[in-house]
Amino acid sequence: MEAPRCLICHSESRWIHTIPVVDLVAQYRRQLKLEVAAEFGGRSEVRIARCPCCDFVSFVPAITGTEGFYRGLQGRGWYYLADKPEFSTARRHLRRNHRILDVGCGSGAFAQGHPVENYLGLEYTAEAIAMAEARGLSVRRQGVEAYAATKPEPHDMVCAFQVLEHVADQRAFITACIDVCRPGGQIVFSTPNADSFANAACNLVLNFPPHHTAWFSRRFWLALPQYFPLRLVEIVEEPLEPVHLSFYADTLVRAALVDWLGLRPPAPIDDSLGTRVLARLTAGLGRILARGLADERLRPKGQSITAIYERG
Ligand SMILES: [Zn+2]
Repeated sequence: MEAPRCLICHSESRWIHTIPVVDLVAQYRRQLKLEVAAEFGGRSEVRIARCPCCDFVSFVPAITGTEGFYRGLQGRGWYYLADKPEFSTARRHLRRNHRILDVGCGSGAFAQGHPVENYLGLEYTAEAIAMAEARGLSVRRQGVEAYAATKPEPHDMVCAFQVLEHVADQRAFITACIDVCRPGGQIVFSTPNADSFANAACNLVLNFPPHHTAWFSRRFWLALPQYFPLRLVEIVEEPLEPVHLSFYADTLVRAALVDWLGLRPPAPIDDSLGTRVLARLTAGLGRILARGLADERLRPKGQSITAIYERG
């Protein structure tokens, strides 16, 4: 099968991985006790394509999680964080009189401290909308493409924190975000960082469908203004968060052992006995290494990246 044209820049993509659906289903079940087989609509594999021009990495086909899938994740409490590092990055560019559009606003945590009359959230999930409304915020149950089609008064800041990696059509999403921003206004995207250690980890199942549809690197965010009317303001790679120290340390120890013992590197999703034994062996070493990483000066970059643009 020929790799598709890149959704962002229309160059020819290249295949980089093929993932058997049965392996994804097994990992979701083992790690999160979620049954996701039905999400794949009978497909036996998903493929990953990378664009050599803009570095857009996408799953083919783009499979987005159903409401039932997200309900299963939200039951875990950690899904709506009260604060995210990218909020403070965006707030540096925010004035009190700015009219914000927060796409995929979740519980509306970004609105904290901002006048409620200058804030509008877009969100699909009923539980999240209820949480945002309890803060006095206005929220529409709508996607940004449908909202843009209503030709609203343009906003001063349009932000989408950790949303783009969940949508099926990134080009349509980015275009709609630009359409609802005033010329000279700010557009903020944050996503997981494809350059972080997490993309070298094995079995990081939430980085795969039906949770994620695409991966985004610093190179991608740098390239974006070539294809859209945007001017880059800044790109901020978040530092490694304390909560992820053990995960990072485990990943590092495992990679070191694979290399030292001359083993075959594991696949992105890998349920083989060798990989399972290695995971067991390295967990203890990872915990020790994590203690050294408590020193902030020794930490590498973390899992999310934020890109801020001005609408041209
Ligand atoms: Zn491309």
